Amino acid sequence: MEQHELRQWEAQCTQEDAPHCQAQCPLHIDVRTFCKKMAAGKINEAWAVLYKSMPMPHITANICNGLCMETCLRKDLGGSINMPELESYCAANATKNPPVRPLPSKGKRVLIIGGGLSALAAAWDLAKKGISPTILSTEAYDDVASNIPEKAFEQHEQAMKKLGVLFSSEELPEDLAEICTKWDAVLLATSEVANQYPCELINPKTLQTNISSVFTVPFPCIATSIERIALGRTLALSAERSIQNVSLTAGRDTEGPYQSRLQTAVSSVSSLPRLPAGDEGYDEATAMLEAGRCLQCECMQCVNNCVYLAEFKSYPKVYARHIYNNAAIVMGTRHANKMINSCMLCGLCEEICPEDFAVQNLCLTARQEMVADSTMPPSAHEFALRDMAFANTAGMLAKNAPSASASTYAFFPGCQLPAISPHLVESTYNYLRDSLEEPVGLFIHCCGAPAHWAGQKDLTEATTRQILQQWEIMGKPELITGCPTCASMFAELLPQIPTRSLWEVLEEVGLPAKARMPQQPYVLHDPCSTRHDEPMRAHVRAIIEKLAVSITEPRLSGLLTECCGFGGLLDSANPELSRKASQHRAETLSACTEDEQDVLTYCAMCRDMLARTGKRTIHLLDILFPNCNAALSCCDADPATIPVTGFSDRRENRIRLKEHLLTTVWGEAESVTKENAPTITYTEQAAANMEERRILRSDIRKVVDYVEATNSSLFNTQTQRNVASFRPVGVTYWIEYTKDNDAYCIHNVWSHRMQIIPPK
Ligand code: SF4
Ligand code: SF4
Ligand code: SF4
Repeated sequence: MEQHELRQWEAQCTQEDAPHCQAQCPLHIDVRTFCKKMAAGKINEAWAVLYKSMPMPHITANICNGLCMETCLRKDLGGSINMPELESYCAANATKNPPVRPLPSKGKRVLIIGGGLSALAAAWDLAKKGISPTILSTEAYDDVASNIPEKAFEQHEQAMKKLGVLFSSEELPEDLAEICTKWDAVLLATSEVANQYPCELINPKTLQTNISSVFTVPFPCIATSIERIALGRTLALSAERSIQNVSLTAGRDTEGPYQSRLQTAVSSVSSLPRLPAGDEGYDEATAMLEAGRCLQCECMQCVNNCVYLAEFKSYPKVYARHIYNNAAIVMGTRHANKMINSCMLCGLCEEICPEDFAVQNLCLTARQEMVADSTMPPSAHEFALRDMAFANTAGMLAKNAPSASASTYAFFPGCQLPAISPHLVESTYNYLRDSLEEPVGLFIHCCGAPAHWAGQKDLTEATTRQILQQWEIMGKPELITGCPTCASMFAELLPQIPTRSLWEVLEEVGLPAKARMPQQPYVLHDPCSTRHDEPMRAHVRAIIEKLAVSITEPRLSGLLTECCGFGGLLDSANPELSRKASQHRAETLSACTEDEQDVLTYCAMCRDMLARTGKRTIHLLDILFPNCNAALSCCDADPATIPVTGFSDRRENRIRLKEHLLTTVWGEAESVTKENAPTITYTEQAAANMEERRILRSDIRKVVDYVEATNSSLFNTQTQRNVASFRPVGVTYWIEYTKDNDAYCIHNVWSHRMQIIPPK
């Protein structure tokens, strides 16, 4: 990522923008933190917040006229936060003043003509910056003193003294040119005197006059108290810049009140009435309650709706910085690499974000760059990519309809439906052949989504090229997609191939007569890959309506649907978070109904990801084709109880389906499996470890074959078990086993990327 791209990403996220109250306040008081401290009864800490951002806080805190209240998000929810009363309470009750520490003296002097709020504020700010101010006025504090409690005024005077602000009541000099020769800058801080001198305000933003070292408040000045203090601050900043000979204008866009872009979701916030202050102002309890009404405005809308963003405990602007910084570190940091690879690439954030921040694009680009720079950790996506490679070789099947030399249509179920529910692929394909008049071929292949999600551009291109070639060989049929992810990948990566969703075709040709008509209602889960496929979602709902199935739409569905935990290869890169995401989605689906309804979905992977949380979930095809084929999979009468398909079973299902269809549909009795003796069995613990560690039965078979061929194993005298390893490609697999005649019983399995080199 280039630095300008980082800046663009950062600018898009408004989470760090000021809340509206702070943006509107001419002094930009950190209202949020102030209210937080006040609500917690930490008065001295709240006072420190005011002290930091207010010039002469003892005075300012007592004369605030609440300009922020106009934009407070509480305004229509019980009334704006009563900042003026809270500030007065805080000033009166703080027991400790933060130390005033001016910067070292710069050896420069500024004359401030006038003794009102602007003059005092300018003097305060200049003195803090190490520039010596002298206030020239016969009537200093004239418009201030009467409103300030005596004690506060005394404290203010002490603070001004500590800062070294000088006062002079000499006569006003007449010759401005002469004054300018004696002072590094001159501030005309009251509109009365501003009119006496022959100079003209030329820049209302910097308050500079036609004499470059003279700055003035506008004439006539009709500002409120706080605005006059803010004018003093502007005078001081301009004088400082002029003295230091730096740009007077740079970076001053948000100096006065401005419009913040921050958007805070308040639709679920209840109204809470403002607490009235008594004649003496607030007491402690009431002040705390009033400050506690502050909503602590922030955005975080995407974070509040995404398990992934919440997991990494920050927000997209910070993630963009992490990604940018990570690129400069050789092989990246483990934390950042995991963060980049844990986004489900589902796109929900973009729909929710008021600024359309697309985290999926940020993370996908970062993955592509890591792959290009060879900094992507191989373990992140290796298993998923190996699975894809298997689906596109041993598991792949591309056939025209029996005895047809070309296909008008081809059913494209993807790679997960054949792996998880092979019987549904068979039933659907047979039904399509029976229902469509033109020849229907079958094309079982992965659409390339795993390679795309892994950031593997070359592999994605190779996969789509392979699909394109095969599609041409089949006579360029219209593909009928059975998987929503395939449909979205075709739309994005292979737009030249005409596709229609299975649901559209089924709606057109009519539903199978044997469809089971469930009486119970379901809660409908839209796969996240259908987020922008409104037609597919509509066809699914039309089919559900024809089936007379009653459904509940969850709060987050359609355009705002949530990922099941599989998207973006999360299950491969961060299995724990993937489980969390599945659990979260299952819970939001449960929460949308009072009775615990089963989930209905139309993606095989979503079905399994939700089912693994224990949530009863079925695929729409389970309703349409209820009669299972026992030769292909164990299909219970109740599809919501079908167990989640393990990794090894998925591979074997693909092979079994391929063999079965070649035999029953095309009459080709080719056997594509090559399972030989010896027999291998697994203890329950070994089987669980294989699932968790993504080790397949075929991997174990290779180790056993190696042991058989080389007789190479170790014997552990303590456990009385053999241990053997084999490294077929980049991973070394280990088994701990016992052997009874020709039968191996596997007790434990593990793997690593280290290579075992025998001693010479
Ligand atoms: S609710 Fe609090 S943070 Fe939000 S605008 Fe009002 S005072 Fe500011
Ligand atoms: S793309 Fe999905 S998983 Fe990634 S940040 Fe956005 S909402 Fe979260
Ligand atoms: S929704 Fe997220 S990305 Fe968008 S502005 Fe808010 S915090 Fe930033």
